[in-house]
Amino acid sequence: MKRVYLSLGSNMGDTRKNLMEAMELLREKVHIDEISSFYRTEPVGYKDQDWFLNVVITGETSLEPMDLLEFCQSIEKEMKRVKTIRFGPRIIDVDILLYEGYESDDENLTVPHPRMKERAFVMIPLAEIAPEVLVGRESVIEIVNRLDGEAIEKVGDVDGEDK
Ligand code: ADP
Ligand code: MG
Repeated sequence: MKRVYLSLGSNMGDTRKNLMEAMELLREKVHIDEISSFYRTEPVGYKDQDWFLNVVITGETSLEPMDLLEFCQSIEKEMKRVKTIRFGPRIIDVDILLYEGYESDDENLTVPHPRMKERAFVMIPLAEIAPEVLVGRESVIEIVNRLDGEAIEKVGDVDGEDK
């Protein structure tokens, strides 16, 4: 079994429900043992879309890296199929951040995820569950401490929304 860190994001429909559903589907192959808080985050890049809800999870899996990617993509497809809006923003995006003992610069699967270090919506939730884990030569918390990224706001966790 290998430890993996995954980032999930949604900015369409009931975003909280989408994250919960994606995590349930992931559990079939990933033994999730930690889930960060949920964060409402400003879109990066293309601004003319709704804010995202983001979460980072960790767990163990016996899937090889490429099989994990395919599994994550199958969940994205499965959840897209039940929705009807075409060309819309993301119902669910599942990215592989880190995979224990594995690094790759293959464009189909780049690990560590190539843009994770600049993304507050990845690094801040990741720091909640894995502050000391290394991304390259730096720890998650070191990277977070020098981020001055986009707006991000904690809004709750798996147990419910903050009051
Ligand atoms: P993005 O997540 O960058 O907004 P997509 O989810 O559409 O965009 O992914 C685009 C491609 O990124 C996928 O076809 C996948 O092969 C590739 N990719 C490369 N590295 C990773 C990774 N670490 N996790 C997930 N997808 C990745
Ligand atoms: Mg993706």
